[in-house]
Amino acid sequence: MEALLYDKTLNCPVCRRDFKSKKVRSRKLMIAEKHDDLNIVYKEVNPLHYQIFVCPECGYTGTEGEFEDISPVHKKIFDDQVRYKWKERNYGEKRKIEEVIETYKLALLTAQLFRKPKSYIGNICLKLAWVYREIGDHKEEEFLRYALTNLQDAYQQEKLDHASINEITTAYIVAELNRRFENYKEAIVWYTKVLDNPEIKNHRQLQLKTREQWRLAKEEYDQHKNAV
Ligand SMILES: [Zn+2]
Repeated sequence: MEALLYDKTLNCPVCRRDFKSKKVRSRKLMIAEKHDDLNIVYKEVNPLHYQIFVCPECGYTGTEGEFEDISPVHKKIFDDQVRYKWKERNYGEKRKIEEVIETYKLALLTAQLFRKPKSYIGNICLKLAWVYREIGDHKEEEFLRYALTNLQDAYQQEKLDHASINEITTAYIVAELNRRFENYKEAIVWYTKVLDNPEIKNHRQLQLKTREQWRLAKEEYDQHKNAV
């Protein structure tokens, strides 16, 4: 399994120390399962385990896409509120599942401290929920609910074309999480937003999946209505 992991060297934008963090060679992975909320389970290793980088020296944490991109204001907030409390901890080796969870919680704390967009926070909650799913932990549901609230607000309040997940995928996840929580009527509204989005023609797989899930939600809604 080790051969699937490699070291990436990063430079911490807060304390300027170089450190290493593992990454996964994704192209070598074989898909074991695809879940309806777009989680993909691989046979060999879960790439989600290595998507958060944590500086061992100062504790600054972020996802790959924005790790090195910190504003002077955020740097000051981090220096004042986190750095002095941080005890040196290294997440740069092969991570145990408890360590994976810690990295996501640190990423969430940093994101909340920096008032990051809800699309970003929702996406981290979603991935943490999938990590809990992997180990059968009931906290999966709690984090799916946080993901749902944040992504639903993000769709309505934020510009999503540059976000870590785009508008159409966000609407699909909101639909699917509503269905999972038995809000069938709401789910149908959100699946419809996906299908009505002009961009859907560039996402053929998602279009087919959404139609399938729309029908399922409709059936579940009818059953639910008849049972009440
Ligand atoms: Zn640092």
